[in-house]
Amino acid sequence: MFTASDVAVSRINANRFVATSTAECHICTECSQMRECGDRRSCQTSPESVDADRLTGAINRVVAGLCSSEPFVEGTRRGVVIVEGSFVLAIQRFVDLANEFVYWVNSENLNLCKTWHLKGKGLWRPRQGEIDVDFIKRMDAVNTHKLWCELYHEDSFKDLSTVNVPLPNVIDVNVMRKILS
Ligand SMILES: [Zn+2]
Repeated sequence: MFTASDVAVSRINANRFVATSTAECHICTECSQMRECGDRRSCQTSPESVDADRLTGAINRVVAGLCSSEPFVEGTRRGVVIVEGSFVLAIQRFVDLANEFVYWVNSENLNLCKTWHLKGKGLWRPRQGEIDVDFIKRMDAVNTHKLWCELYHEDSFKDLSTVNVPLPNVIDVNVMRKILS
């Protein structure tokens, strides 16, 4: 969409900038009470686990590169950096940076999210005759409930992430019924 408009675009996946959080995660505690998740006191799936300084550095580098890129210099001299990730909207400095340009891809349907997640990673391999929900349930439990735990975290931090998102900027994938790329 942007490239068709002669706007230089770069994307950053904030999920790549996670470190092990030193803070105790109450969601991890909830998870371990509900399921045998193993020892997850070293949380890597929460806003606290995002290395905000490394992510800020990456944004600055991408912006510098974008400003000297051919699409920017030869185009309309406008650029967009898309920062996407599970918890980035729960970190105030990035919400402030984006100003009103914050968007939330909303899906209340966790099974749908898990389906897309597994398909995106090439892990959608149900056994013959296995229905989707049973396959998801089985995948939920792999590696001491890792997938279930990650999605439980994302769902738990939803309110913190969406509080600054204007209503028109909420994209409801359940209604659109299509995979966003
Ligand atoms: Zn946690």
